[in-house]
Amino acid sequence: MALFAELPGIGPRQSARIVMAILNWPPQEIDKFAEAVASLNQGVTFCQICFNFSEEERCDICSSSQRDPGKICVVERITDLQSIEKTGFYRGHYHVLGGAINPVDGVLPRHLKIDSLIERVKHYQEVHTNGHPADLEVILATNPTTFGDTTAMYIEEILRPMSIKTSRLAKGLSSGSYLEYADPATLQNAFKNRK
Ligand SMILES: [Zn+2]
Repeated sequence: MALFAELPGIGPRQSARIVMAILNWPPQEIDKFAEAVASLNQGVTFCQICFNFSEEERCDICSSSQRDPGKICVVERITDLQSIEKTGFYRGHYHVLGGAINPVDGVLPRHLKIDSLIERVKHYQEVHTNGHPADLEVILATNPTTFGDTTAMYIEEILRPMSIKTSRLAKGLSSGSYLEYADPATLQNAFKNRK
């Protein structure tokens, strides 16, 4: 029963109501539901570059010539990427970490796509050898929570010796809130005023 309460927006009370509702279904319906949940992660594939959903090796954003590869916006989850995309103002690339560093829940840096972010940055520097490494901007758009901040600081520390420009979203987003739920205007301002 506690599992439903792990879903976004579902508290223990709603969780109990969902369980009660499901228990009223005919057994074959319950089986169908269980099967559907079990197959959720089958057939879902991710972009090999940024870890957005993608049916191809590269997602639409990574393969688009209309997007600026000199900007990588680092987010915790695909839902954050989707919220930013909805506003329509950001024309760079993304990197989805898959969460935030949270030692209490056992989420350590090695569980997130941090290594691949560093590889990406290195690769960018290599292919732009006669260019200027500082041309690449890594925008750390983790959630303004303790874990999100910790994650952003951790990545900043790793990137510092690589002379990569990093920026954080402006403080417009209220502390402890989630990017995913920010209204588009607030999100856009946080981006514009990043530093
Ligand atoms: Zn991608």
